[in-house]
Amino acid sequence: MAEVLKIAIQKSGRLYDESVKLLKDCGIGLKNGINRLKTEVDNFPMEIYFLRDDDIPQYVEDAVANVGIVGENVVYEKNKQVDIVEKLGFGKCRLSVAVSKNEKYDKVSFLANKRIATSYPLLVQQFLDKNNVKAEIHAISGSVEIAPGIGLADAIVDLVSSGSTLFMNGLKEVETVLDSQAVLIKNKNLDAARTQLLEKFLFRIRAVKKAKNNKYILLNAPNEKLKDIIGLLPGMKSPTVLPLAEAGWSSVHSVVDENDFWDIIAKLKEAGAQGILVVPIEKMIM
Ligand code: ATP
Ligand code: ZN
Repeated sequence: MAEVLKIAIQKSGRLYDESVKLLKDCGIGLKNGINRLKTEVDNFPMEIYFLRDDDIPQYVEDAVANVGIVGENVVYEKNKQVDIVEKLGFGKCRLSVAVSKNEKYDKVSFLANKRIATSYPLLVQQFLDKNNVKAEIHAISGSVEIAPGIGLADAIVDLVSSGSTLFMNGLKEVETVLDSQAVLIKNKNLDAARTQLLEKFLFRIRAVKKAKNNKYILLNAPNEKLKDIIGLLPGMKSPTVLPLAEAGWSSVHSVVDENDFWDIIAKLKEAGAQGILVVPIEKMIM
């Protein structure tokens, strides 16, 4: 039987949709009629395992799966022997310290001798050590945010994205322990065949990520303004310029980074660009 790359992804939860979408964007079609433990793929030598996110680092260390998609928070907390190969740009959140909104928190030493409830005891201990603070860590597995309200803790360390859960529980965020996002991890001893499959998969992931961060832009420009307008566009190499049917006008095509996008649009308009169209890019190979 030919070699397949076994990948572990979260079976349900916050990383599930984006993990499946990434695979699909990479042209990896999940078979329907999914047996909810594992599924095969039609058009790529891959097998997908659906697991609890907490278990993924262990399975990858043990080579039950060759690679996995999981939050950095879980990778560092579980502290297994795996390599992080790529940040995936989704599942972004922070592991943060929060205290009651009535507390006068000024610095980390506030936590000295306090009780901290968390599902991330290792990361919290490392954070306290780094700041030379001694405190009592209470490891609990869920609903950490209610611990201060019921008198179980003076502070918590938990994952935060918008902060609305903290707010609803009368808490405020006071320190960031870790910025986290989903990453691709791999077993440390992949054989040559699996390494090659991983390279192929990574090539696709990078093309999808790059495309997500860029937009294709088309605009019309009067020829006398072309030089200024082209000067504003970075493009992959240099922009494409085509004559329009109307004399004295050209169509300009280029690629712009999402981060600079609004800035560039404003400048393009100022420089005399008209009929600006912006379209998403599906894949981008440099
Ligand atoms: P499982 O049943 O697989 O153990 P879970 O309840 O532990 O699921 P989820 O809440 O689905 O996990 O979160 C999975 C991951 O999503 C987190 O480990 C984290 O990396 C990421 N994440 C992104 N934003 C948030 C957030 N606001 N709160 C919690 N996790 C978040
Ligand atoms: Zn979990």
